[in-house]
Amino acid sequence: MTGWIAVAGLGPGDEGMVTAEVREALSQATDVIGYIPYVARVAPRNGLTLHPTDNRVELDRAAHAIALCRQGARVVIVSSGDPGVFAMASALFEGVEVDAGPIPDIRILPGITAMLAAAAHAGAPLGHDFCAINLSDNLKPWDLVEKRLRLAAQADFAMAFYNPRSKSRPHQFERTLQVLREECGPDRLITFARAVTTPEERITTVSLGEATPEMADMRTVVLVGNSATRRIGKWVYTPRRAD
Ligand code: SAH
Repeated sequence: MTGWIAVAGLGPGDEGMVTAEVREALSQATDVIGYIPYVARVAPRNGLTLHPTDNRVELDRAAHAIALCRQGARVVIVSSGDPGVFAMASALFEGVEVDAGPIPDIRILPGITAMLAAAAHAGAPLGHDFCAINLSDNLKPWDLVEKRLRLAAQADFAMAFYNPRSKSRPHQFERTLQVLREECGPDRLITFARAVTTPEERITTVSLGEATPEMADMRTVVLVGNSATRRIGKWVYTPRRAD
């Protein structure tokens, strides 16, 4: 039996947003590896071993997948959203580099990332140039987060923020809002999209002047418009043109 490793994105939550390609890979898998809540989304069946693990053990997961693959297993590493967006695809390649053995048969299967599902449900806030920033300082210094944030705002990008606020770093999102107000002024629109495509979905758009840190948590992706982003009825959109 020839082993392979697929790194698959399960989308933001709704089963209808899992691609046919990902479903096919899961149906062929012998092993599924990933963070506990993501592995919980995979239905158990005969011949499939589930390997749920806790947060922050990405390199261990990669090493485990490589070892299983070498024994002939068909391994799917699951991520939420898209596996290439602040998720397991890069972690697997980091693991392959550390391993230094022959490169296994790898496929990366895209998924719908949180910012795109959130943008669709809000309207089209990312309809012009935009960027995505991970606000966690787990893997990079906070100074770099703040620098990128400030420069992106100065460049008038619309922005999507992942991992905006956790209990272990409550002040950083407050600082994020402060930097945004300095660079964009109080009237810029900001959308808090929580648990998008799940039954608990909540999407709230306010001005930066009205935004408070408590509006975000770790299940929220935050979208900030550019200087032309506006409301129309219940929708928020960014026009395709910039002057
Ligand atoms: N690979 C994932 C992102 C992982 S980082 C993706 O492509 O979506 C985890 C962060 O993603 C969370 O802190 C949150 O900011 C965002 N996120 C993931 N799923 C979400 C959802 N259903 N609704 C809102 N934000 C979500």
